[in-house]
Amino acid sequence: MADSLRTIDELDVEGRRVLLRADFNVPLHRPRSGGPIEVADDTRIRAALETIADLRARGARLVLVSHLGRPKGPDPALSMRPVADRLAELTGAPVLLAPAVTGPEVVALSERLASGEMLMLENIRYEPGETRNDPELVSALAELADLYVNDAFGTAHRAHASTEGIAHRLPSAAGRLMEREVSTLQAIVERADRPLVAILGGAKVTDKIGVVERFLELADLLCIGGAMCFPFLAAQGHRVGASLCPEEDVASARRVLAAAAGSSCRFELPIDLSLAPEGQDEASRRVLDGVEVPDGWSGLDIGPRTSARYAGEIAAAGTVFWNGPMGRFELEQFAAGTRAVAEAVAATPARTVVGGGETVEAMRSFGLEDRVTHLSTGGGATLEFLEGRELPGVHALTITAVSAR
Ligand code: ADP
Ligand code: MG
Repeated sequence: MADSLRTIDELDVEGRRVLLRADFNVPLHRPRSGGPIEVADDTRIRAALETIADLRARGARLVLVSHLGRPKGPDPALSMRPVADRLAELTGAPVLLAPAVTGPEVVALSERLASGEMLMLENIRYEPGETRNDPELVSALAELADLYVNDAFGTAHRAHASTEGIAHRLPSAAGRLMEREVSTLQAIVERADRPLVAILGGAKVTDKIGVVERFLELADLLCIGGAMCFPFLAAQGHRVGASLCPEEDVASARRVLAAAAGSSCRFELPIDLSLAPEGQDEASRRVLDGVEVPDGWSGLDIGPRTSARYAGEIAAAGTVFWNGPMGRFELEQFAAGTRAVAEAVAATPARTVVGGGETVEAMRSFGLEDRVTHLSTGGGATLEFLEGRELPGVHALTITAVSAR
């Protein structure tokens, strides 16, 4: 399906109004002194610059739209103002902020745009119709542009008005970021260099069990770390002490272990752990040689022998996919496992793809974010894509609704 993703190369944008859906859902900084709200991390804005520059250089009149947080109706605290200001700084060009998402005044502003100029709509989630994919909101958005480009891979797993509905109303295409995300993840699924090694960790086991199951089919080796290892260790009959290990995840883990036994994919779990006394994550760590966690202790990181083993597998891989930290890396004493994996990912000659909010954050905190083949910007969207689920926002860009020329 994604092979037929339409790209902006197929759109004749010169002099036309292009509605560009980007993912500008950035963290904000609200000064206590009451000064203006600022963008705390502009990574997502920078990620859209390539598409913005391309479209502007080709004479498009840009109408930008994104969500920011989860307002329930218009809310000045979640205005796009700081994003528009930051984008203006990054592009060195003015970014006009519309007073609303839609309406006659906004349509008039869009019509007054000259080639290369930018108008940013207010937070799309000011409109309750956005998440409902309301046809009326779709129609109102369609009045603001002649063409539609979606670069918001991170929200492509949601069928919202600005991510899905609108793609059926205007000639549409994927932006550069969307194109790269889809082709990179597609390559992992369809033509990874072998061995394909998947490192999976983090805390959201329920959300990730589908991905674990898919990688049992796709990968040559699966290495499990983070809190994700405890349901598996519990399912094997080990003691997990006070480690994070919901009962329902143990049932899922049992199912996965049964599938793993019949699969050609090797399945590795930690062989040692770093522990802290229950409820005292800040306390100094104790390394456990083995995986029988005593009562009153929590496993908060993989141990040094496990780290070395996973790092060795990464070094010998053809392709590496990594999602989910190996431990509570936010605490220095439990960052060693995550750092070892991050350093191995940075050093391996393999193609490397790293995804997940905290995983990318970890890579960045170690200063290694530039040493990865591809940092995926989508959390849930990345995982759903790899699970083999169809992403509505991507799928809508593969259907030729109206001729673009
Ligand atoms: P991502 O955002 O990369 O997909 P998750 O959201 O699934 O990853 O999980 C990230 C969080 O998991 C981190 O904040 C980290 O502190 C936590 N974590 C990892 N291992 C453990 C553990 N053993 N016990 C508790 N929390 C853990
Ligand atoms: Mg997360």
